[in-house]
Amino acid sequence: MLLQENATVQTLMTKETLTVVKKLGEGGQGAVYLVEGQKLGRKALKWYNHEQATEEQMKIILDLVQQGPPSGAAGKRFVWPIDLVCSPHSSQFGYLMDLIDTQRFAELGEVWAKRKPAPTMRALCRISYAAADSYRALHLRGLCYRDISAGNIMFDPVQGDVLICDNDNIGVNNQSDAQVWGTMEYMAPEVVRKEAKPSTDTDLHSLAVLLFQLWIWHHPLHGKMEYEVRSWDLIAKQKIYGQNPVFIFDPVNPENRLPDDPDYETAKRRWEVCPQPLKEKFIQAFTIGLHDPKRRVTEGEWRKLFLELEDCITQCPHDSAENFWSEKQPNVRCWYCQQPVPVPPKLLVKSAAGKQYIVLNKGTSIKRRHIDPSSKEEQWAELVGEVVQNPANPSVWGIRNHTNVPWKATTLAGAVREIPPQKSVPLQAGVRIQFTASTEGTILG
Ligand SMILES: [Zn+2]
Repeated sequence: MLLQENATVQTLMTKETLTVVKKLGEGGQGAVYLVEGQKLGRKALKWYNHEQATEEQMKIILDLVQQGPPSGAAGKRFVWPIDLVCSPHSSQFGYLMDLIDTQRFAELGEVWAKRKPAPTMRALCRISYAAADSYRALHLRGLCYRDISAGNIMFDPVQGDVLICDNDNIGVNNQSDAQVWGTMEYMAPEVVRKEAKPSTDTDLHSLAVLLFQLWIWHHPLHGKMEYEVRSWDLIAKQKIYGQNPVFIFDPVNPENRLPDDPDYETAKRRWEVCPQPLKEKFIQAFTIGLHDPKRRVTEGEWRKLFLELEDCITQCPHDSAENFWSEKQPNVRCWYCQQPVPVPPKLLVKSAAGKQYIVLNKGTSIKRRHIDPSSKEEQWAELVGEVVQNPANPSVWGIRNHTNVPWKATTLAGAVREIPPQKSVPLQAGVRIQFTASTEGTILG
C-alpha cells in the first residue's frame, strides 16, 4: 500500500506525527516521500513495500538508528536512518532520513547523461577519497554496506562532497544475513558464484568498480566478452561477473579488451589519461583482486592514493585543464589540448609515513597531514604552509610558514637559516626544509 498525500505516520523513538507531503520517488524496495513534522521539520521517509517490510528489515533499521552513523566527517556523509516510522493503519513501516539537495548532489548516471556537470580532476580525487574514507569508517565499526554501487552514492561535482544513500542494508560483517545481495555488476565474483556472502571483503570489490566507473566512465569487465554476448541474460552476467571475470585492461590477458566500436571510445580515452598510480591500483583490483579477496585494494590504500593524486595536480596554462604529475610520468602532456604542460617546482616530503610529493602551484597549501602523518585526522586539513609571492618582488616565490614554530631551511650551498612563523622559504631547487624533528622537505625543480 502506498501512502497518500496528507496521510499521517508516527516516528517510533520520538513519537512525533508526520504528514506526508508528496512522493519523491520509487524504487525496488519501496517509495520515498517528503514528510513534515512539527519538531523534525521536513524529512524524507522511505516506506517499504509489503514484501520488504519484514521483521528482519525492521531489526536492521532499529539497530542502525540506535547505533548512529560512524563519527566524524566520514560518518556525516551517510544519509543515516534517523528513526523508524510506522502507521496505525498498516503493517508496513519505513524510516526517516535527511532530505538530499538534488540540485547540488548528482548521481554518476546524471553526469553520464550530461544532466549534471562532470567533476573536475580535483573534484574526482575528493569524491573518490570521501567514498573510500566513509566505507572505511563503516568497516572499522565491523559493519559492511553490502550494496555499494553508483546508484547509492551522490556527489557534488564541483566541491567533491559525497553522500551515501540507501543505508538500510548495512549489517554486521560476516554475521547478519543479507536481505540484499547487491547489484550484480558490482558484486564480487565469489558472491556471484554464491561461494560467499556480502562482507567487507566483497565491499572492497564493489568500491573498486564504483571508483573505476567514476574515473573511466565504464565497467571494468565490459569488454569484448560482454560485447559478443547475444542475450544479456542471467547466465551471461554470471559468466562475466562471476565465473570468468577478465579486466578490460588486464596487462597480461587480452581476452576481454575493449572492442573496436565508437561506444567504447570514452573508456579508451579516459584510461589513456588516467594517472599511472591509479591505473596500477585498478590493475591490482581487477586482476589478483578479482580472485583473491585478501589482496584487494583496501579503503586505506585508496584514501592515501587520492590524497597524493590531488597533491600532484597542475593546470594547463592554455585551457586550465587539470593534469597529474607523477614521479613515473614527469613530463606532463595536457589530456585536453595535448600540449606539453610546464610543471612547477615540487616539494618532496619525507616523514615516518614514507615519501610524498606536492606540486607547488600558486596558492598550494601544505597541510598538517603532510608534515605530521601521525596527527589526528581532524587536524589533517590544518594549514601549515602556503605557496606565496614575495610582496616586495612578485617574481620571487616562497613557502610561507603558517605554523607557530620556526622551520630550518638549508640551501644547496649548505647555509642554514631559520624561517620564523609567517616568513617564507624561497622556492629554489635543492633547498631543504626541516618541518619537524622527523619530517624534511626538499624543493625539486
Ligand atoms: Zn591544455
